[in-house]
Amino acid sequence: MAGLDPRHLADLEAIVGARGLRHGNVTETLEPGIHPANLDADVVLLPASSGEVAAIVGYCAQHQIPIVPHGGRTGLAGGAVSSPGQVVVETTRMSDIVEIDPHAGTAVVEAGMTLGAIDEAIAAHGLSVGIDLAARDSATIGGMVSTNAGGIEAFRNGVTRQRVLGLEVVLPDGRVLDDLKLVSKANEGYDIKQLVIGGEGTLGIVTKVALSLVPRPGAKATALVSVGNAADAVRLFCRFRHHPGGLLLASEIMWSGYARAVAEANDLSGLLSFESDPAALFDIIDVADDETGSGQAFLEEVLGEAAEAGEIRDALIAKNDQERDRIWLIREDSWAIDRAKPDGFWYDVSVPHHALDRYAADVFARIAALGAGFEVFMMGHLGDGNMHLTITAGKPLPDHYDAVCDAVYEGLAAIGGSFSAEHGIGLEKRAALVDHGSTVKLDMMRAVKAALDPQNIMNPGKII
Ligand SMILES: Cc1cc2nc3c(=O)[nH]c(=O)nc-3n(C[C@H](O)[C@H](O)[C@H](O)COP(=O)(O)OP(=O)(O)OC[C@H]3O[C@@H](n4cnc5c(N)ncnc54)[C@H](O)[C@@H]3O)c2cc1C
Repeated sequence: MAGLDPRHLADLEAIVGARGLRHGNVTETLEPGIHPANLDADVVLLPASSGEVAAIVGYCAQHQIPIVPHGGRTGLAGGAVSSPGQVVVETTRMSDIVEIDPHAGTAVVEAGMTLGAIDEAIAAHGLSVGIDLAARDSATIGGMVSTNAGGIEAFRNGVTRQRVLGLEVVLPDGRVLDDLKLVSKANEGYDIKQLVIGGEGTLGIVTKVALSLVPRPGAKATALVSVGNAADAVRLFCRFRHHPGGLLLASEIMWSGYARAVAEANDLSGLLSFESDPAALFDIIDVADDETGSGQAFLEEVLGEAAEAGEIRDALIAKNDQERDRIWLIREDSWAIDRAKPDGFWYDVSVPHHALDRYAADVFARIAALGAGFEVFMMGHLGDGNMHLTITAGKPLPDHYDAVCDAVYEGLAAIGGSFSAEHGIGLEKRAALVDHGSTVKLDMMRAVKAALDPQNIMNPGKII
């Protein structure tokens, strides 16, 4: 496909100014992010205001130029992939707090602010976004809204959708949907912003977000716990979740192969040496002080009860912040798997708690039965059953992709799970959406897309 007509480049530059346009070898000054093809359009517009975004989209609508919205480019489903002839609209210059109301616990922020920057700005008010993910310092709130990001605290505070009170969105025809509510109750007919949340940039560009914040947790205490199986890990999660005297912040499960491979890659195998059984699973538990007590005492008390009940095998309680960070690195450096064994397939599924142990055993068995040298590396957000799997033989085996997908997705719908938990559909899971999604729902998505973006210029080819 040909690149953008120079006449359009000049007109778009007139909207954003020289500072707001990059074109020609853009990867010399911008990082493509997770997907190598994110910047293939080779034209990146960096608007500084909602007005500039509206002017860009209005111009592109008039000239049928396809647009790919970008935030921090940390998305894992290929939703930000672009191609020549398209323009990327990146929001990272729109990165200011518009207002904070500490008493109401709300904030309005521009879409290009990173999660980390928002969190820093509201910390002084004793507030938190209530969402946490490892890409916190790059992922933007606009990207998180558009992917309906979940992360570590979703079991407690919901996914991004539950934190959004209102949105400002530039629609595919350049009009601005101003729905920046600061209240949770607003039944005004169809809640159109809910379509934009999780819409992966296919229905408009999010320019501002009104957030409902949560109280910032107190001091944290962390344990790395070993368990015999996923069912015991779920029992431990429920014990912490419902136990008085503290606040459970995170419960992240790692199967043995994942934990031991990432620990080894980071020279942290010593942290796992308290557990001698090579098949044991690991669970990272974060708790915090609450008004009724100290996190450390809560952690020790609940772990003691769990040990007596036979739910856990052993535990290592972090002695200080450095040890806590080292424990968390084992969970968060999932790229260690890709570095050691490249060319794997990634999955992001949701499994109801009651079925997790059985599901995991079945996936390991089905993959082994394929007999192509695949290994399964599995971990995830235990609180909501969201599991991430890397299935790799350390070399490209594209002919096996369909069989591996079948092995991972089999039975999920029947047990009430999902083939696509928190990363979205993007490009990577379009086939899975057709194969494993609801046909009726897909028809409705196509109808919504056609109604809101009849020219198909907003992130075309993504999701559907
Ligand atoms: C190390 C790591 C850990 C991660 N952990 C988690 C996790 O725990 N939970 C989780 O849910 N995700 C996780 N992710 C995935 C990723 O961080 C999220 O999907 C995040 O929400 C993407 O934000 P972004 O700003 O980088 O968006 P991008 O990658 O730039 O874009 C993602 C999608 O959103 C669209 N988009 C971006 N900005 C806008 C906008 N302003 N308006 C409209 N559309 C827009 C894009 O077109 C694209 O479809 C992780 C990623 C990494 C690299």
